[in-house]
Amino acid sequence: MTPAQGVAEAQKRLGLTCYHAGQKVAGMVGCVACQFQIRNRSALPTCPQCGEMVWAWLDEGPAPTPEDLSAEERAAHEKAQTELNPPPSVEEGVSLEVTPEVKIEENIKLEP
Ligand SMILES: [Zn+2]
Repeated sequence: MTPAQGVAEAQKRLGLTCYHAGQKVAGMVGCVACQFQIRNRSALPTCPQCGEMVWAWLDEGPAPTPEDLSAEERAAHEKAQTELNPPPSVEEGVSLEVTPEVKIEENIKLEP
C-alpha cells in the first residue's frame, strides 16, 4: 500500500482528513494507528511512537492542502475535503455583505 492509498483508506475509515509522512502540514495531527498527537510545523515525520506514516488532521479549522502535492494528489485531496466537509452552498455573482459606511460625527467632545 502506498502512503497515498493509506491516506485514502484512513480518511474513509475515520472521516478525517489525513496526510502522510513527508507532506508539509502545520497544525495538530494524530497518528491513525496509535493516536499519538503532535503539533506539526513542516514536513510530517513518521510516528515517533509506532512508525505509522499516516496522520489525521485534528486541529480546528479546515484541514489545509499540503503545499507539495502534485496536481493529481491535490485534486484527490480537495475531492476528499469536499466529501468530508461539504462547503456551504455558494452562489456565484452574489455580492458579499456591504460594509455600512462609517458614520462620522463631528464636534464630539471627548472631555466632559
Ligand atoms: Zn503511532
